[in-house]
Amino acid sequence: MKAKKVFESMSPYKPGKQIEDVKKAYGLNKIVKLASNENPFGYSQQVDQALKASANHFEIYPDGYATELRELLSDELSVDPDQLVFGCGSDEIITMICQVYLEPGTNTIMATPSFSQYKHNALIQGAKVKEIPVINGYHDLQGMLDAIDSYTRIVWLCSPNNPTGCLINDQSLRSFLDQCRSDVLVVVDEAYYEYIISSEAPDTLSLLNQYPNLIILRTFSKAFGLASLRVGYGIANLAISEVLNIARGPFNVTQIAQKAATVAYQDKDFLEQSLRETTKNKVMLMNYFDEMGLTYYDSETNFIFVKLPCSGDALFEYLLTKGFIVRSGEALGHPNGVRITIGAEDDMKVLQAEMKSFLATHVGVE
Ligand code: PMP
Repeated sequence: MKAKKVFESMSPYKPGKQIEDVKKAYGLNKIVKLASNENPFGYSQQVDQALKASANHFEIYPDGYATELRELLSDELSVDPDQLVFGCGSDEIITMICQVYLEPGTNTIMATPSFSQYKHNALIQGAKVKEIPVINGYHDLQGMLDAIDSYTRIVWLCSPNNPTGCLINDQSLRSFLDQCRSDVLVVVDEAYYEYIISSEAPDTLSLLNQYPNLIILRTFSKAFGLASLRVGYGIANLAISEVLNIARGPFNVTQIAQKAATVAYQDKDFLEQSLRETTKNKVMLMNYFDEMGLTYYDSETNFIFVKLPCSGDALFEYLLTKGFIVRSGEALGHPNGVRITIGAEDDMKVLQAEMKSFLATHVGVE
């Protein structure tokens, strides 16, 4: 059997370490996972109840049109129901976009570092990948525009960007869209949309009418706390959503996941409370970094990428022994730093104390 040649130089996605593995390896009872930007406050109680009530009839295929969730979101977002496409996480929508728009001879443009799945899926489709380095954590939008040529099919704008956390503001996004050729698909990945607080953030939905080549990606994995259930969605003009829906697997979002997402979206109290806590704990972490003289990228997300006077791996390994899983910058193309998801207050206080003692003993930062 002969797989496509490109697979010879690729490897599977390396997720953050799993809680059970770390527990066993270090003989610890409690592990705090701050590696994958999940919601430390879990998910709405209403979701919990709805799931218990609807955990049945697994013999029936799910609603392939996700009617209830689609109607809710189209109402809330004021878009046509058919402008929505649902995926098994926004990961799957990224895969579909690459399947639909990329092939050998085409190219696609993205920032580096940015979310790894854009490149991964583009390579599988045989497209050339042009990576434009971020500037101080921000997309180099001019560099990305300059890289567009007649073979470019997609530009990926991760905003706020994973792993840096930096947001593309309204003015910059509009100016980019004005200058970008209208036959190039612009993907604005807003996986961390709910965490944005900046007053300069774009209202991306309102740009859909003006820019027919735009698609917005959002997810239930982060602020809504449903990462394990795998629900993401894209919002675009019909010419895009209709073709993505052809590429989509017929029953790609399970019934339970559709139910959970529908209930989660309506529990505004849970969302607000978890966003409030996250913001408070993020400010606490930034103050701590400032006191320690550590620099970090601007963040409009539920994580911060902090730069270190040592390798990210060294701090990562040390924190593992103390029961904290963070993400080393090594795997994210930025070796002297770590990305830390904002967790619960008490856990963050312990993490800060552990970081302090590591930095004092290993690199002399007091
Ligand atoms: N986009 C970005 C920027 C992300 O950080 C992630 C998750 N880490 C995803 C997309 C995929 O999220 P999901 O598939 O869980 O919706």
